[in-house]
Amino acid sequence: MAEKQTETAKDKKGTKPSKNAWLKYTKAEKKAVYDFAEGYRKFISDCKTERECTEEILRMAKAEGYIDLKEAVAEGKKLSAGDKVFVNCMGKAVALFLLGTKPLEDGMKILGAHIDSPRIDLKQVPLYEDTEMALFDTHYYGGIKKYQWVTLPLALHGVVVKKDGTVVKVVIGEAADDPVVGITDLLIHLSSKQMEKNASKVIEGEDLNILVGSIPLKDGEKEAVKENILALLKETYDITEDDFVSAEIEAVPAGAARDFGIDRSMVMGYGQDDRVCAYSSMKAMFELKEIDRTAVCLLVDKEEVGSVGATGMHSRFFENAVAEIMELCGGYSGLKLRRALANSQMLSSDVSAAYDPNYPAVSEKKNTAYFGKGLVFNKYTGSRGKSGSNDANAEYMARLRAAMEKHKVTFQTSELGKVDEGGGGTIAYIMANYGMEVIDSGVAVLNMHAPWEITGKSDLYEALRGYVAFLKEL
Ligand code: MN
Ligand code: MN
Repeated sequence: MAEKQTETAKDKKGTKPSKNAWLKYTKAEKKAVYDFAEGYRKFISDCKTERECTEEILRMAKAEGYIDLKEAVAEGKKLSAGDKVFVNCMGKAVALFLLGTKPLEDGMKILGAHIDSPRIDLKQVPLYEDTEMALFDTHYYGGIKKYQWVTLPLALHGVVVKKDGTVVKVVIGEAADDPVVGITDLLIHLSSKQMEKNASKVIEGEDLNILVGSIPLKDGEKEAVKENILALLKETYDITEDDFVSAEIEAVPAGAARDFGIDRSMVMGYGQDDRVCAYSSMKAMFELKEIDRTAVCLLVDKEEVGSVGATGMHSRFFENAVAEIMELCGGYSGLKLRRALANSQMLSSDVSAAYDPNYPAVSEKKNTAYFGKGLVFNKYTGSRGKSGSNDANAEYMARLRAAMEKHKVTFQTSELGKVDEGGGGTIAYIMANYGMEVIDSGVAVLNMHAPWEITGKSDLYEALRGYVAFLKEL
């Protein structure tokens, strides 16, 4: 563990022995914890889609001196130690490279996380009218408990791409005087049948219809309420009903993330899985000015639906980027590329399930993650007999322990719940396919995949410190 700890009798009976990070901070450090969390709170309040995250991350990276790999390739620019390069993958995924003094084939130190989050997407033909109400038909994205997404103020974020290629950005429901939209639920008075259904059937996928209007257009035709909504969209965004075919609009919880708890020790916000790891990984990258082996921060899309597609971790975009950089660093070769990947180490960061005192039955107390106990390492995830997990090597874990201890990072180890209780997956196993050392790590979260998730500020801060320690020591 990060600090020498004395096990109490209670510890031995099954409470994990580890010191709460809050207890180690000086007044100045505590301020640093709160300040860092405030920057994070603003980031997740403003960035609620993978596109918005990518845009903001690239803005910050450019301010840190990162240059576009595409431009470097076009100009035939030579790259060398200390150069900072970014890769923008279709506006939905990002890779940041800080080039090291050692050749790429010595391997890279990679911080990975994902920037997509569970949400409710509009269908390609979304708008309809029913009994003089206008609604959007939706298809949810990622694993959600559908009943959690009704009776909430929702905002619409996304893009509509017109036939001429014009990209129209849409954000409705975030400004204080903006309207919000949402999904209705049945009143309790008439719910006797609904209340008998099991939780997965209470609200079904096709019931997630977003109410967006109720005023009929004067002199309108049959569907005058829908016509009125289309007229408003035309006026505000210059888009037509057909344009939804080439749109990506995501319904997400409306409003800013908030400090949580009377002691302000936590943050409640949407999309903390996995932006809590993405933000801290990116900030750790920015703390390093020079490095021995090349550092990478890889922030990808589509993790919540299996890491598929061009912007997900299964895509070759990262491997291609390394090949391009290798060429600009003095010469690409297939063998060198393979060595670069196989000699790498990675922290595949994603959220862990935090121990919840309301639901103790699903966790095994010695091997679960707790708020306040810092950066989480999951040697393996998966389900049943570790199916689908990336089981990190003990040798690698030992190096990480040493790095964390050297930098006095508070960390903990964890599994996702009790054996046979369920399970989950991350991007770890995909990168491990290159033969590199990969381990799952990250931040503990409560309410995972709910509209409003909760993280602990000290855990966020220890994640940052842990990522910096990783980049410095590995
Ligand atoms: Mn998730
Ligand atoms: Mn995740």
